Amino acid sequence: MSRGGFALSNPRSTAFYNDLRAHGAAFARRCAQAAAEPARPAAAWTELARRQLRRLLPQNCALCAAPVPDALVCTACAAALPTIHPACPRCALPSPGGAVCGACLAHPPPFTATLAAHAYAFPVDRLLQALKYGGQIALGEWAGETLAARVRREAPDPARAGEPPLLVPLPLAPARQRQRGFNQAQLVAHALAREFALPLAAALLRTRAGPPQAALPWQARLGNVRGAFVARGRLDGLAVVLVDDVMTTGATLAAAAAAALAAGARRVDCWVVARTLPPGQS
Ligand SMILES: [Zn+2]
Ligand SMILES: [Zn+2]
Repeated sequence: MSRGGFALSNPRSTAFYNDLRAHGAAFARRCAQAAAEPARPAAAWTELARRQLRRLLPQNCALCAAPVPDALVCTACAAALPTIHPACPRCALPSPGGAVCGACLAHPPPFTATLAAHAYAFPVDRLLQALKYGGQIALGEWAGETLAARVRREAPDPARAGEPPLLVPLPLAPARQRQRGFNQAQLVAHALAREFALPLAAALLRTRAGPPQAALPWQARLGNVRGAFVARGRLDGLAVVLVDDVMTTGATLAAAAAAALAAGARRVDCWVVARTLPPGQS
């Protein structure tokens, strides 16, 4: 569904989110009401069909090749994936006792909190590279599920937590999206929207591509992304969650968060599959 520049997709009533642009706060209240409604039978059937289909297809763990009935990564491998703990609640980097880190205290980023499912290290890096550059789109589902598990530890049901957030996948530059054919952040955000029955909108536009972040030295990345995003409409009063596969320096997410705040968002959080450790800590 597309209306007023937003591409919307959610597992509940689509008509529900029509007034996203004009009535941000009202929209958020209605999301809370929607979350209180029982799941629609159609959505439940779709989910059941999806799970049944998965069981029918022969599947092996993407890491150890052990046969697994209902997952892309087996339970043993999933339990061994690298995580960052304790972490700064704001930027998700290692921080003793889980306190806000010195860097965030000195220069608070525009986002309020960050949840990262994993450290961007072996073998998480290989899985995400296979998704992004190897076109193994099924890994998008794994990425969504492992991030959902991380979110659930923080908030068991974010759709019922006061004001349900709007999920916004980090957009790729149009040229890169055409080249790749898909946006991995969107795959992850879709999996989260389905898992938690949260609204999702492609509310940000990437206006400037710049050189690929991976090709730039650490410091140059900050200047490269400043002003690279713009909101496609007003986000007044909304709690926005930016969804991405990898948070490297945080510069890209900070630029996106600044754009969402400039469009009226009340608060911006980041949910990412993996967080890169600073040089020397990996
Ligand atoms: Zn395995
Ligand atoms: Zn921090």
